[in-house]
Amino acid sequence: MKKFAVIASLDLDLANRVLDVASRIAGTVDGIKIGVPTIIESGIGILGEIRALLGDKPLLVDLKIADIGFRSSQSWEGTNAKIVAKLAGSGASHITVHGFPGPSSVAEVVSIGRDLGIGVLLLPMMSHVGAESFFSGCLDILNFKTACEKSGVKLNLTAESMLKNVTDGILALGEAIGVDGYIGPATRPEDLLRYRIFTKKQIWCPGFGRQDRLGRTLAEQFKDWASNVGPQSAAIVGSLIYNAPDPCLAANEVVQIRDSVIGGLACQ
Ligand code: C5P
Repeated sequence: MKKFAVIASLDLDLANRVLDVASRIAGTVDGIKIGVPTIIESGIGILGEIRALLGDKPLLVDLKIADIGFRSSQSWEGTNAKIVAKLAGSGASHITVHGFPGPSSVAEVVSIGRDLGIGVLLLPMMSHVGAESFFSGCLDILNFKTACEKSGVKLNLTAESMLKNVTDGILALGEAIGVDGYIGPATRPEDLLRYRIFTKKQIWCPGFGRQDRLGRTLAEQFKDWASNVGPQSAAIVGSLIYNAPDPCLAANEVVQIRDSVIGGLACQ
């Protein structure tokens, strides 16, 4: 993936609108994210159509998978495995998975994702108001370690003293299992800095524009994002692009802001 990528999230109500905007912006942005409403409406066939527009750029399917992992003596047989298997050959390059259902749930998604060549992005925190009410809650470390042991997940115990809350536990879990990256909230700069204590992996960040609660301009949001997470990152931008009168123009403006912000960074 391109460094400091811009990924357009096309959360439109109808599949033909998704395809229309995708065809207009595919050459400008560095990838596209498709969510559950679009898949429910049109089925996974739409992913192949978007893949054809994107060439080899990332296509993130934001299913936020959160069902069970179940390992028999032979193989992974939980619902998570069945969900991910449905994406075989679909054109998806990445999927999202929740961490709160625990070690076996995440391990199952990563295992099947690897078999299919689909990258897995884990959610240790979210961008919306109130996300912290559960994610920032205390982590029962003893219970967490036992659950990892039972699921065959080996935690890096040097990180144990750093585990302050659920978000930290999910980050430690992602590192132990070997996810491909994380979803991190652009709305919470201090959380993105904390992610970087745990991981060097990619962090893909939603929350630009309408979700910002810190009174920042778009350029300031991009500057905070880029300096906090560094080049192994993506900015996920939704309504700012798809709700604009001219999504192509809006995508160009977002990319220009990204370019001018990273042009001024020392770390690029
Ligand atoms: O329109 P906006 O830019 O706020 O869209 C953000 C997109 O990113 C939406 O599709 C939303 O579901 C998704 N997302 C998010 N926060 C997360 C994970 C995904 O906003 N933690």
